[in-house]
Amino acid sequence: MEERYEPLKELGSGNFGVARLVRDKKTKELVAVKYIERGKKIDENVQREIINHRSLRHPNIVRFKELYLTPTHIAIVMEYAAGGELFERICSAGRFSEDEARFFFQQLTSGVSYCHAMEICHRDLKLENTLLDGSASPRLKICDFGYSKSGLLHSQPKSTVGTPAYIAPEVLSRKEYDGKIADVWSCGVTLYVMLVGAYPFEDPEDPRNFRKTIQRIMTCQYSIPDYVHVSANCRDLLSKIFVANPSKRITVPEIKKHPWYLRNVPKELVECEKMIKDVDSDQPAQTVEEIMKIIQEARTAADASKLAEKSSAGTTDPDDEDIDESEIEYSDDFTAFM
Ligand code: ADP
Repeated sequence: MEERYEPLKELGSGNFGVARLVRDKKTKELVAVKYIERGKKIDENVQREIINHRSLRHPNIVRFKELYLTPTHIAIVMEYAAGGELFERICSAGRFSEDEARFFFQQLTSGVSYCHAMEICHRDLKLENTLLDGSASPRLKICDFGYSKSGLLHSQPKSTVGTPAYIAPEVLSRKEYDGKIADVWSCGVTLYVMLVGAYPFEDPEDPRNFRKTIQRIMTCQYSIPDYVHVSANCRDLLSKIFVANPSKRITVPEIKKHPWYLRNVPKELVECEKMIKDVDSDQPAQTVEEIMKIIQEARTAADASKLAEKSSAGTTDPDDEDIDESEIEYSDDFTAFM
C-alpha cells in the first residue's frame, strides 16, 4: 500500500501523530494521510471515529478515502484540503468582514448539521480543525471529525488541550452534556473569532489567564470591541449561541433559520443539502468489515525494533499521557492573536 503513495511533505502534527501530503502514483491525485501509531493508541474511540468518518460524506467535511497499515502505524487516507487552516487565513487578515465570516459560518454549520443528523458530534470544533480547499472561493472542510475523545478535557494530550477558548460551560462543569449543543457553542466561538480576530472569553488585558477565561465562559461574559462593526442581526445570533444554559441555547436547525444566517445563502449550499440525502453515491471502496479488520490488526503493537528505527511513516507522540486540569497549558495557537 505504501508503494502506491509518493510522500511529498509533512502537513503538520497533532494529537495522534503526523499528517502528510502524498500523491497517489496511479491516479496522480493528492491526498492527505494521517498516521497514528499502532498499539494502545488505537483504542475504542479511534476505532469508532474511523468508522464514523467513513460514513460521513459531505462537501464541508474532509472525505475519508481508505485505511491501511504500515509496520508501525495505521494510515488514514483522506481528501487533501489544499487551502490550509481557516485559522491561518484569519491570522493573516486580522479579521473577516461580516459577509466573509457568514460565508464560512454557513459552510461550517452545514457540515456540523449533517454530522449531527448522522448522530455524530465533533466535540472539538475549532479553527484549527477547519480547513479550506484550494479553490478561489474556498470551500470549508471540517477535519478531525470525531477524532476527539469523549472525555475531552481529560483524555487529550497536553499539546492541544490548551484551547479552552472553544469549550462550552456545561463541558467545563463536567456534567453530562449534549454534544450537539456543545458544538453550537464552539461554532459561536469560531464565528466570533472570524469577526473580531480574538477569542470571545479571554480578558484582553490578561489573555493567558486560564482561570479568568473559564470564569468568563461560565458567565458568558464577552463583548464586541467598538472598532469592529457587527450588525444587530449578527449580534443577536451570537447572543443566542452564547447562552450558558444549554437547554436555552439556539440549536443548529434554529441557526439555519436565523435571519443573519439566511442572508446570501449560496445556491451551492442549498443544492448540497438536498444532494447529501443521496448517500449511496461515491462509497469508500473498503467495507466496514475490512476496516474493522485493519483496526484490530493495528491494535497489535508495532514491532519494537521497527519503532526504534523511527519509520518514515510517522513520528511517535511524546505527549501521550493523560493530564488533569491543573496541568493545562496554552498551545501556541492560543496566543497567536496576541
Ligand atoms: P490535530 O489532531 O491537531 O487536529 P491532525 O493530525 O489532524 O492534527 O493534523 C495535523 C495538521 O495537518 C493539521 O493541523 C492540518 O493543518 C493538517 N491536516 C490534517 N488533515 C489535513 C487534510 N486532510 N488536508 C490538509 N491538511 C491537513
